[in-house]
Amino acid sequence: MTTILANHIDGLAVEPRDGIYLDDVDPATGAVHARVPASGPADVDQAVAAGRRAFPGWSATPASERSRILIRIADALETRLEDYVRAESIDSGKPVRLARALDIPRAVANLRFFATAILHTGSDLFETDDRALNYTLRRPRGVAGLISPWNLPLYLFTWKIAPAIATGNTVVAKPSELTPWTAAMLADLTAEQGLPPGVLNVVHGLGASAGAAIVDHPDVPAISFTGGTATGATIARTAGPAFKKLSLELGGKNATVVFADVDLDEVLPGIVRSAFENQGEICLCGSRLFVEAPLYERFVTTFAAAVERLRMGDPLDDATEQGALVSAAHRAKVESYVDLARDLGGEIVTGGRRPDGLPARVSEGFFVEPTVVTGLPVDCRVNMEEIFGPVVTITPFRAEEEAVAWANGTQYGLAASVWTNDLRRAHRVAGALDAGTVWINTWLLRDLRVPFGGMKQSGVGREGGDEALRFFTEPKTVSVALR
Ligand code: NAD
Repeated sequence: MTTILANHIDGLAVEPRDGIYLDDVDPATGAVHARVPASGPADVDQAVAAGRRAFPGWSATPASERSRILIRIADALETRLEDYVRAESIDSGKPVRLARALDIPRAVANLRFFATAILHTGSDLFETDDRALNYTLRRPRGVAGLISPWNLPLYLFTWKIAPAIATGNTVVAKPSELTPWTAAMLADLTAEQGLPPGVLNVVHGLGASAGAAIVDHPDVPAISFTGGTATGATIARTAGPAFKKLSLELGGKNATVVFADVDLDEVLPGIVRSAFENQGEICLCGSRLFVEAPLYERFVTTFAAAVERLRMGDPLDDATEQGALVSAAHRAKVESYVDLARDLGGEIVTGGRRPDGLPARVSEGFFVEPTVVTGLPVDCRVNMEEIFGPVVTITPFRAEEEAVAWANGTQYGLAASVWTNDLRRAHRVAGALDAGTVWINTWLLRDLRVPFGGMKQSGVGREGGDEALRFFTEPKTVSVALR
């Protein structure tokens, strides 16, 4: 049965004004499983108006009450975890085991974290000798426009709505048109759990229409966007001249630097995960592996063998570790980079094809084998452009400086991981890498308190912890004369 999704405006399920819907495809089967509103500027107008109406009441609601409602939503989400796990998997192609271990628990954690963070914040006070006291008030900005991508749908949706709402803003949010389902489910849940109408408005649709209308709307003073770098540039062109507050979490081409002193058996599972978790569709995945020369041959063989052991199959099967790519178009993009790697003389050590022998239910799905390529120049397009799929390259390096220069040699600067047992080198290399987050001997360990964001073309601003609370509030300094 095909589910018909609705926008969520002013606490109600609302059809798109002009009645147009998009297909929402299950990437594991290729079948349409839902229809999603193709909203436009009129729907966004209606949502922003609802957000404006709700703002005075919500922003004046005591923090303890806002916190209580958000915690209730988190608890309700946790109770229905399995429903959300299944929906996320069907919508995005990711294995249920990953949605169960990562996506939905993180959505719960995001809500709880920001619900409680607002109970522990203070404001700044500066004393100007004995002449004045200056203090800073922080006020919610108004209606926040929040736009999120398809790879970690509810995880990133809640990463934005939780701090925005917790700090007293109201929200117009647009999930990706490819993976709208869990955001729609959560919107209903928030109404059920007592979030006042108009605080969270969800408008579905294409980026170029619904998304652009949110960014362009004169009554939306702050935009938080996670998605591709090219989209971020388009958004900045609209939001910049209107002086909107802008947070951009964009693409990456992350380096994984492996030194020869590691215990390979110990670090291998972490490195494999960093390359292929969620089919490589995580902005933080390491897709350029630089391995110190003495370890290189053994690393390639052992790594490829471990990659071949990853279980690809029906995402709804609890045993599956590799699911389907999000869409046919994305699969075509990923495959074009595998072709390019071949054309450039790279060796496909493993993968590079659509898998054989998948269960009948998913035989038409958008699967690509996890792919490992060697022998490519570090500055070729495969090594410079974001593929955002299950394709990694491995390149040997001779000196630490060489690895750092190569790691830093792209337009991106989102994340990196360093694998070594040499403590001083670990810190030295972490300090030298141009990346918003560097992991040492681990990957995707995310404390919600730390600043998160990208250097260079991987973004503008930071979210997470206090950074998010600051982004969603406007500081106002009050200066009081003491004499
Ligand atoms: P995308 O940029 O195509 O779309 C992201 C969102 O923006 C979607 O909701 C889309 O509908 C909307 N959008 C598209 N065009 C728009 C426009 N002109 N105006 C307003 N909204 C618009 O990205 P995607 O393909 O959904 O996601 C993949 C990208 O996201 C990758 O580049 C990945 O690295 C990046 N990403 C970054 C982070 C991070 O934290 N830095 C996290 C996850 C994903």
